[in-house]
Amino acid sequence: MQRDSSRALYDRALGVLAGGVNSSVRASRPYPVFIDHGEGGHVVDVDGNRYLDFIMGYGPLLLGHDLPASVREAVEAAVDTGPMFGAPTPVEVELAEFVAGHVPSVEMLRFVNSGTEATVSAVRLARAVTGRDLVVIMQGGYHGAQESTLVEGGPGAVEPSSPGIPDAFSASTLPVPFNDTAAVDAVFETHGDRIAAVMTEPILANNGIIEPGDGYLEHLRTLTDQHGALLIFDEVITGFRIGGLACAQGLFGVTPDLTTFGKIIGGGFPVGAVGGPAALIEHFTPAGEVFQSGTFSGHPVTMAAGLATLEYAADHDVYDQLSTLGDRLRTGLIDIIADSAPSYTVVGRGSMFKILFSRDPTTPQSGGCRSGCRRSASCDRHSACPSTAAGVRAGATDRWERVFRPAMRDAGILLPPNQFESQFLCAEHTAADVDTALDAYQELL
Ligand SMILES: *Cc1c(COP(=O)(O)O)cnc(C)c1O
Repeated sequence: MQRDSSRALYDRALGVLAGGVNSSVRASRPYPVFIDHGEGGHVVDVDGNRYLDFIMGYGPLLLGHDLPASVREAVEAAVDTGPMFGAPTPVEVELAEFVAGHVPSVEMLRFVNSGTEATVSAVRLARAVTGRDLVVIMQGGYHGAQESTLVEGGPGAVEPSSPGIPDAFSASTLPVPFNDTAAVDAVFETHGDRIAAVMTEPILANNGIIEPGDGYLEHLRTLTDQHGALLIFDEVITGFRIGGLACAQGLFGVTPDLTTFGKIIGGGFPVGAVGGPAALIEHFTPAGEVFQSGTFSGHPVTMAAGLATLEYAADHDVYDQLSTLGDRLRTGLIDIIADSAPSYTVVGRGSMFKILFSRDPTTPQSGGCRSGCRRSASCDRHSACPSTAAGVRAGATDRWERVFRPAMRDAGILLPPNQFESQFLCAEHTAADVDTALDAYQELL
């Protein structure tokens, strides 16, 4: 596979863009492929190579690259009216009504421009309404490039995970291991009356895809209620992907106080949102006192794309179709690793999937895991499968990054460069695409 044009573009990019990219995850070694255009579930690079795409924009592209006619028309109509106005337009009301009509915890929203902005605004709101500063997050969870959550370590030994972030930020953050009820109980025991919120993804989708164990999210709900703290679900990835239109909170039946959205709700354009009951969201200015503002927020093109995408998903059985396809893929992967790499773990549900290159469990995944690891207490491998970010990180991540993933790219399949990111199916992937992918996994694992 010849990639001279990508190589030359990356060479130029290195002269004018830090690391040659605008988002660090894109800088795969030795150089990323530059995309010319998408075609359904595939992308074509600037050298004319065609790849089966499981990156899908890192999550926003539920419907694939072509966009159904209704989405395309909604976007074009919004562009035709003029790009944006700095004044309200009808479509932001319609998208807000759609989201509020389907997501259990959401009565009201504030749209912003990225998932990062959504989590920043949600944390500010939680701190303001509780009058407290501390925020509990999950180790290895990702909430965007925000100062309060870019931390590493555990309670008592937290530090910023990037230079440029004052210790004062990390000093207000309490990272605990996901799925560890004793750890979160302990931080509430010590700091309970100073904790503004627990913020977590309902499924850790940026860290190998880890499911919550039985009762874990319910435990967080009870604990935050007992201590007067808010529960924030970061559904930037899981929102409108897992659990259909009710999102992961609908699937698990646990209702958070605040929910952050991004990715899919913008239909492929930059977006974020914070949702919750009016009693909380109305604390944002100008209804309330918590400052929140944005030149591009509620951008008409984004709102039109988001609304048309969600309406399409509602009308076309997209989630069932994606789950069927996802189960076919995960079942095939489980059969493949049973022979070639029994310690590996197939994770994900619905349109999310991944193989964790886990080292410990030696029993292959069983029939019970054919829809992906669900952290079921009755599973033979329950105690050995990764249940935390540390468990995922203990895997053969170098093998993934340096050997497996580049080989898949050469075989015409694009996977995210790092082992911790979810992979996505889109509505334009077909059973034949799944079978092509399975053949490549079979050959290269
Ligand atoms: C992608 C992501 C973010 C950040 O969203 P951006 O739009 O990249 O700023 C926040 N939280 C989660 C769970 C994400 O997956």
